[in-house]
Amino acid sequence: MKLSKRVQQLAPSPTLAITAKAKALKQAGHDVIGLGAGEPDFNTPVHILQAAEEAMHKGLTKYTPSSGVVELKQAIIEKFKRDNGLTYEPNQIIVTVGAKHALYNLFQALLDEGDEVIIPAPYWVSYLEQVKLAGGVPVVVEGKEENQFKITPAQLEAAVTDRTKALLLNSPSNPTGMLYTAEELRAIGEVCVKHDILVVSDEIYEHLIYGDEKHVSIASLSDELYQRTVIINGVSKTYSMTGWRIGYAAGPAELIKAMSGLSDHSTSNPTSIAQYAAIAALQGTHEPVAEMKRAFKERRDYVVRRVNAIPGFHCQMPAGAFYAFINIREALNHSGKYANPDEWSAALLEKALVAVVPGSGFGSNDHIRISYATSMEQLEQALDRIEKFVKDQA
Ligand code: PLP
Repeated sequence: MKLSKRVQQLAPSPTLAITAKAKALKQAGHDVIGLGAGEPDFNTPVHILQAAEEAMHKGLTKYTPSSGVVELKQAIIEKFKRDNGLTYEPNQIIVTVGAKHALYNLFQALLDEGDEVIIPAPYWVSYLEQVKLAGGVPVVVEGKEENQFKITPAQLEAAVTDRTKALLLNSPSNPTGMLYTAEELRAIGEVCVKHDILVVSDEIYEHLIYGDEKHVSIASLSDELYQRTVIINGVSKTYSMTGWRIGYAAGPAELIKAMSGLSDHSTSNPTSIAQYAAIAALQGTHEPVAEMKRAFKERRDYVVRRVNAIPGFHCQMPAGAFYAFINIREALNHSGKYANPDEWSAALLEKALVAVVPGSGFGSNDHIRISYATSMEQLEQALDRIEKFVKDQA
């Protein structure tokens, strides 16, 4: 069968590929430790489960408006006010089937053939593919490691052309965990205002920050930036609700309406009961989130300390999210056995039974990503294995 050019150009997701390989090894009876997953290992908090159950018994199991129920939009509006100091009207909010779907609809609604979207690297794997699926052209700008993987206003300025439609920001970042400060965002925002560029701000990890740094939404920095920013967010990471598939976007009403139109003819509404669960997540107690954060902080500190003790490994302290992005170039060059992190990660999985994600899918040929959204016990074992694997090659 001849498939469309559109799907033929899709790059496979390295995260899903490594997870599938790890699963296959596990099923064959091997004791594999998976550090690839991009999801919290905690259960969804009980009060959220109860809200879904109640919704089911109340018969809230029917179609809802494609862009989400009014009560959830209201809870999202309150969240923006409370957490980000931002004011939105219901027609500026869309609820989607995860944040991924919000991004998908956004690019479909925004881009014409050849329109450019500036994407700082390292980037989350799906951004490039989604832009390409919408006929757009991803323009990758490398966030230098010495600048905590963040791009500078000068780099952004140099990447702008007359086809530039949007800049994609993700802070805290997957895969690096780095966070832009208000000053950095202000300077980047100035370039966007000057060139009339839309800012797509993926803030899905905003609550998962472990030190004193504060997440700042670029939309809150000025009215000009508010007018030209679309915020992408969701409940997957903060509330350990990856499987419920509830995300949302907030921004200019015209754009949100176009995105809703796409949902009308594709997904229709996100699952009704998951929407009611999301209301409980946003409005209920945040104590389970605080507990999860305490565990993530402890694991982050442990992982970074252990990783930096491995010869030829270097890892900066991530401010947030639940990933360590580790430069293994020195170790690769020293042993000379594996040319790149892809080969190294494949060998690690095969020989040491630890699954990590090579950096290639995130736009780096020097790094691997470890997710610390797994138990301390597993992390300890995994790092022992990685350390031994590296030593055996030296
Ligand atoms: N954005 C980033 C940066 C992510 O890491 C993810 C998930 O891995 C998403 C968006 C999508 O989240 P979801 O579709 O589960 O809401």
